[in-house]
Amino acid sequence: MIPVAYSDANQAIVDGYNNRPPEAGDFVYWAEEAVNPVRKQIKDHYIVEQQQRCCYCSHLYPTNNNSVWDGDHIIPKKLAARFLFEPRNLAASCKDCNIAKRESEVRVNPSRKSFPDKSAHYTIVHPHFDVYSDHIRWYGDAVRSLTPKVSANFYAPSEAQCSDA
Ligand SMILES: [Zn+2]
Repeated sequence: MIPVAYSDANQAIVDGYNNRPPEAGDFVYWAEEAVNPVRKQIKDHYIVEQQQRCCYCSHLYPTNNNSVWDGDHIIPKKLAARFLFEPRNLAASCKDCNIAKRESEVRVNPSRKSFPDKSAHYTIVHPHFDVYSDHIRWYGDAVRSLTPKVSANFYAPSEAQCSDA
């Protein structure tokens, strides 16, 4: 997946955030009105890049309407606000998956300071560092894990889950 490349105007907003000293509760900046154009670019980019499929459940939502999608922080923003605008920490998820995922820890080593940039650094199938179909297969509404690299909590649309990994 190609990470989002911010427009000049949006990069200035991102730089403004990244250049200030870190503070507790920094993640709330994400919801500020000044960040609206950045959030919109992120969603627009990943909805198209993911071909309108949720990054976690792979279900097709055939619309580019931003209100249908959530811009998801793969490492939750409350756990690592320093990755708030890291393009490889962002993807488009469906509402159900985002709600199911909540603030779940997805890193193998949460104390690592630099951005984890390899598949092996994550406990989940990563939208940027993994090929979804290598790990997960859907049979109608049932999902099968092909590897240990999954978390059933994320498969919100499915009641019927099975794993033989
Ligand atoms: Zn989903």
